[in-house]
Amino acid sequence: MSARAWRLVLLGPPGVGKGTQGRRLAQAFGVPQIATGDIFRNAVKDRTPMGTAAKSYIDAGKLVPDDVTIGLVEERLARPDAQAGFILDGFPRTAQQATALDALVQRKGLRLDGVIEIKVDAAEVIRRLTGRRLCAVCQTPYHLESASPKLPGVCDRCGGPLVQREDDDEKTVVNRLDEYQRKTAPLAEYYRGVGLLRVVDGNGDMDTVFARIMTALGAAVGPAA
Ligand code: ADP
Ligand code: ZN
Repeated sequence: MSARAWRLVLLGPPGVGKGTQGRRLAQAFGVPQIATGDIFRNAVKDRTPMGTAAKSYIDAGKLVPDDVTIGLVEERLARPDAQAGFILDGFPRTAQQATALDALVQRKGLRLDGVIEIKVDAAEVIRRLTGRRLCAVCQTPYHLESASPKLPGVCDRCGGPLVQREDDDEKTVVNRLDEYQRKTAPLAEYYRGVGLLRVVDGNGDMDTVFARIMTALGAAVGPAA
């Protein structure tokens, strides 16, 4: 495994598995996974001012305003654990956020190493999101059909209760996909233009997708091909 720091961005609509792959990449590279959606959800739960500001947008499946989101990421990337690299999951999601990230990384004399765009068919995305359940305690994701827990409604890892994310109902899912198409999908072309984009097929099981990502990064695990 390469010992270098990785500064990566995961791009792709809700439901393609950014969270799962982000967690594995963070583990593999020893860098933090920075998932803006998770940070917002925790802020909502803790009723912080940021959480209060973000809640109505999240509930509606809309993007939280750029100034709030960019401020949050700036703060997070300034922390010590992010200095050796990071996996950004769910940021940037707008052109303005991408510009802010470029400026931030450049100010430190660094650069991004890659942007992984994970692609999955639209029908599969909707199936994944509406069947998704999460452990309320440790956040481990499950799926009613394809990744069900041993005991219905109970987390295999910690015994916590499985819940559905409030924004995984069908109406909000449609809004989230629409926001993605309009505001985030164009970022793929931007990153392609600067030579950072790596497109990865997100169909198939988690291990297969993870191996594809590692190959795309030139950091393949297992026997050399
Ligand atoms: P998903 O990718 O499955 O839609 P996330 O957990 O990444 O879910 O995000 C959940 C919600 O948090 C989004 O619908 C949005 O309201 C908010 N959010 C997360 N990241 C951003 C971002 N970079 N910019 C604006 N809003 C964001
Ligand atoms: Zn759990």
